[in-house]
Amino acid sequence: MSSSGAQPTIFSRIIAREIPATIVAETEHIIAFLDIAPKAPVHVVVTTKDPQYQNVVELAAGNPVLLAELVAVAEQIAAVRTNGQFRLVFNTGAAAGQTVFHVHAHVLGSSQPTESLG
Ligand code: C5P
Repeated sequence: MSSSGAQPTIFSRIIAREIPATIVAETEHIIAFLDIAPKAPVHVVVTTKDPQYQNVVELAAGNPVLLAELVAVAEQIAAVRTNGQFRLVFNTGAAAGQTVFHVHAHVLGSSQPTESLG
């Protein structure tokens, strides 16, 4: 998966508001929405509006500033939606479970507030 100029994916249709999603954060370059099939109590997809990078390796090589912005948005989401402990997963390649070839991170965590952890 190293080719550039990726085809628009279903995420481009979410970004264009052509199909519904519950958007929880948006900046000039990044958008985040609730995963339609959550794998954890908190499961948010954070993606670039630009579809040109198919995975995090391509994004890191092509636009590390944008990758840093994506991670910062993911951290902000985790700070308000999780207990502050979270997984940040970039599936990379079909054999690793990637199904949408438009770079994105999964923010996965518990919604349990920190105060209740004792
Ligand atoms: O890492 P992967 O490419 O498999 O992640 C794609 C994710 O996008 C999946 O977790 C899937 O549930 C999510 N998705 C979504 N809304 C869609 C299509 C896919 O949240 N309309």
